[in-house]
Amino acid sequence: MSALSLEHVSHAFADLLAVDDLNLTLERGEVVCLLGPSGCGKTTALRVAAGLEHLQQGRVLIEGEVVAGADRERPPEDRSVGLVFQDYALFPHLTIADNVAFGLRRLPAAERRQRVSAALDLVGMSASAGVYPHMLSGGQQQRVALARALAPRPRVMLLDEPFSNLDARLRQQVRDDTLHVLKRSGTTTLMVTHDPEEAMFMADRIALMRAGRIVQLGTPANLYYEPVDAFVASFFGDINYMEGVVKAGEVATPFGAVAAGGQPEGSAVQVLIRPEALHLTPVEDGCAVPPHSVTVMASRLMGRTSLVHLRSLELPDTAPHFHARVPGRFLPPEKQCLAVALDRSQAFVFPGNGGGRDG
Ligand code: ATP
Repeated sequence: MSALSLEHVSHAFADLLAVDDLNLTLERGEVVCLLGPSGCGKTTALRVAAGLEHLQQGRVLIEGEVVAGADRERPPEDRSVGLVFQDYALFPHLTIADNVAFGLRRLPAAERRQRVSAALDLVGMSASAGVYPHMLSGGQQQRVALARALAPRPRVMLLDEPFSNLDARLRQQVRDDTLHVLKRSGTTTLMVTHDPEEAMFMADRIALMRAGRIVQLGTPANLYYEPVDAFVASFFGDINYMEGVVKAGEVATPFGAVAAGGQPEGSAVQVLIRPEALHLTPVEDGCAVPPHSVTVMASRLMGRTSLVHLRSLELPDTAPHFHARVPGRFLPPEKQCLAVALDRSQAFVFPGNGGGRDG
């Protein structure tokens, strides 16, 4: 049985359709991220699932039970969902233990104590049970918020940008902790984020949204390696964009021809090539010799990878430049000539959109 299903959910604010016929099913223990640009309807979809927005159309089921449908709507507190938001909103006048105990008031005292202790253990915060929220760092407070949401053993956790108030280093740590807490406790989770890297880090599956609809649903690898359109391909970071025309089943690019992937002969297409698909080899004696040569405009170490800005020798100087991302330290000097070998598994061809990048 599915843990959470949204079936044909639509939601409008006045005449703005924020969520448009959304269908999404989470299996037990799965972490699914709703990902997409600002305003695409992620938070609204999550709030409908939580019961924080009244259902307008469709159904929400939790473990097979209709919690929101045409003739019934359970309030959020009766859905057995755990909620964690960007502002962790712990009660400042309650200790950490009392914050976590807050949602457990209906339980006998002994069981309540046991649940609080287990939840704080799970997030590694037992030592802080007796202190107040202001005595903790942002990351520690967010872990307590997670413990508070998990303590009642909800059927589903709903997280809305839970790490975005944390600075970059702390965010990495807290999201690592959160992933393992969720997986250890086997908690089904739907999480909203606008950050593709965060979604890839957290999610078993990603639902990438645009204008209220899911554009593609799949594992991070599905979306990254088999994007259904240019919007999906370009959502996961920097990408080299060019236009072309299909000839004999292929499209010419400055780095060699790529298969047109079923696009009609003679049609205009968009070609998107990930920076890591351009494999570079220095050319020592002159630039004119090998085909698909480029010159270096700039090289920058980005940490684990190097980013090389390139100009194609087959295109006019005014043409847009390209980016190659190379593992480790690879910093060829300006004007150095390089030969490019293209990894075609990371070159994507989509129908032309008559101008500009789709997305
Ligand atoms: P963000 O990442 O910026 O929060 P989002 O993808 O979560 O974006 P939503 O917050 O779901 O998007 O908003 C979807 C659309 O609905 C946006 O255009 C937003 O302005 C609008 N919207 C959201 N809540 C309301 C509201 N209470 N009243 C009116 N319009 C709203």
